[in-house]
Amino acid sequence: MSEAQQNGSQMPGGAGAAKGGSGPEEKLHDVVVIGSGPAGWTAGLYAARANLEPLLITGDDYGGQVSITYEVENYPGFPEGLSGPDLVEKFKAQAERFGCTVSYDHVSEIVVDEHPFTVRTAQSKEYKTKSLILCTGARPRFLEVPGEQEYTGKGVSYCATCDGFFFRGKELVVVGGGDSALEEGLFLTKFATNVRIIHRRDELRASKILQDRAFAHDKIDFVWNTVVTSISGNENGVVSGVTTQDTLNGSQSHIDTDGVFVYIGHIPNNELYHGKLDLDEDGHLIADPMTRTNIPGVFAAGEIADKVFKQVATSVGQGCAAAMQAEKFLASLEAVGLPDLNEDPRAWPVPGVPERAPELMAAD
Ligand code: NAP
Repeated sequence: MSEAQQNGSQMPGGAGAAKGGSGPEEKLHDVVVIGSGPAGWTAGLYAARANLEPLLITGDDYGGQVSITYEVENYPGFPEGLSGPDLVEKFKAQAERFGCTVSYDHVSEIVVDEHPFTVRTAQSKEYKTKSLILCTGARPRFLEVPGEQEYTGKGVSYCATCDGFFFRGKELVVVGGGDSALEEGLFLTKFATNVRIIHRRDELRASKILQDRAFAHDKIDFVWNTVVTSISGNENGVVSGVTTQDTLNGSQSHIDTDGVFVYIGHIPNNELYHGKLDLDEDGHLIADPMTRTNIPGVFAAGEIADKVFKQVATSVGQGCAAAMQAEKFLASLEAVGLPDLNEDPRAWPVPGVPERAPELMAAD
């Protein structure tokens, strides 16, 4: 079961929802988009506006990570901020308005060594497509300490938006030192009496504005140079404390707590791509600045391919670029026919696209 399902988030139907039974489809699609985070919806929007009639397959984690974000304050155009789920619904509505078809299904396999590509799903659907845009994003990294798995859903959580409400009047621990740890730690102060942020160094990775807010908050304090080594529970089977270790002198301590929220980064959702597409050492899809993977006609956008920026705004930009590249690829397909799938896609002619700028080549 996916994180989103565990957390009870919904997989809504809608006007543009795909219909039909299982098995192979007759239709040959121009573009199939996999993933329903900011990159996926934007790819769907742009492909739809280019009259490519895209099919977007949401995946189990509908909306991706932004859908479990309480408030998005830095997405341009929304000066007051808005909730992650609200933003996802706006993305979806805009993509559907221009004809993006949505399938609430999970992709189980892609075949990219023959063209047209094949996409198979958990609901036993099979789609053929001339191009693919991969926006499968990333998921939370686990602590991997004793007690974490056992108490997940019983005090251990990766989603303050989903679970914060259950900790009204309780004491909480947040693990991590990045934007997520601080942003969600601040959110948890709405419910908890105290939020203790445990970080493995004495310096935060989070942005200055969040640091300033967290340092100024009277319900938040920090435990520096410390890692959580185990999570323990009480006779009711729920979290009651964590064991910690000082990273400087190795000494062990215990902190009583009612809940542990883990924000220690993300792992790319790359299970579909092993042995099929080039991945980097951290498991991100390798895509060039034009969003091209190593297979012509297969593009990647958002956190599955982005190990640097990981913002809603940058994912949206990458989704847009991927759809524009897919459009060029389809035009090339029509003009010059099928490329050799083993050929470097960057060497393949794409009408209307100038040779890649030298500064972009240098970024590879
Ligand atoms: P992140 O920036 O990668 O931070 C992960 C944090 O967890 C780091 O402080 C890291 O410590 C710590 N960590 C990693 N592995 C650990 C382990 N095994 N045990 C203990 N601590 C561990 O992840 P993130 O906060 O989820 O942010 C991901 C990206 O999303 C970033 O680019 C961030 O800017 C962006 N984001 C932005 C916003 C916003 O703009 N409002 C909100 C959320 C996320 P070290 O610092 O020592 O490496």
